[in-house]
Amino acid sequence: VYEELRHKEKLAVIGQMAAGIGHEIRNPLSSLRGFAQLQHERSPNTNEFYPIMIQEIDRINSIVNDLMYLGKPKEINFEKARIEEIIAYTLSLTQQQAEMQGVKVETFMEGPLPPIECDGKQLKQVFLNLIKNAIESMTDEGRIKINVKIVDGQRMFISIHDEGCGIADSNILNLGEPFFTTKKDGTGLGLMVTNQIIKDHNGELKIESEIGKGTEVKVNLPIFQQKRKQK
Ligand code: ADP
Ligand code: MG
Repeated sequence: VYEELRHKEKLAVIGQMAAGIGHEIRNPLSSLRGFAQLQHERSPNTNEFYPIMIQEIDRINSIVNDLMYLGKPKEINFEKARIEEIIAYTLSLTQQQAEMQGVKVETFMEGPLPPIECDGKQLKQVFLNLIKNAIESMTDEGRIKINVKIVDGQRMFISIHDEGCGIADSNILNLGEPFFTTKKDGTGLGLMVTNQIIKDHNGELKIESEIGKGTEVKVNLPIFQQKRKQK
């Protein structure tokens, strides 16, 4: 219990620092991004490095966003949104990475799908994290299958199935722990944030994995949220 407490305290301190520093970092970052974009538009043919700069700035931004989550979970704004649009948007962001690796993504929607009450911005982050993990799990080409369906007219089930390296049994329990990563330049923040956002949506996240074969991440989300979440 003592260890756990220390752990929590440590996280709280890191979280507060991260939130403070993150906030300060994001502003200069966004002006850097703006200028890189502008410069690229002015001379698109001669400056092949600008897209890379922009991509890397976006990466810093997403790490900072994840870090800020440690300290203070953001407020949720529930509104009606279409899961297929959220997933399509996420796929447009990961398309380049997938293509470079020769990863194919197939999406199956068991329609018609109703809109769900959610924070669309946050769900984008969820699917971005999960799809990135799926892509990164495959060293060569492979396939990612995304299935979406409704069960009982009440809940939306989303499954993301990859043919990647899988997760060792000994690591399963560490998933979602901040900073747990097996990647050379991973942060180990993605699943923690993902898990938190799904919980805030009264949803569930399950991971089934077989080493060497692949991983299936199952998310289920209620279509309707209770009137107000009591805290
Ligand atoms: P990061 O991606 O920065 O490592 P995450 O929190 O997203 O952090 O994931 C933590 C760890 O969980 C990864 O380093 C990896 O070991 C494991 N993992 C997550 N998703 C998958 C997946 N689809 N296939 C294999 N391993 C995964
Ligand atoms: Mg990740």
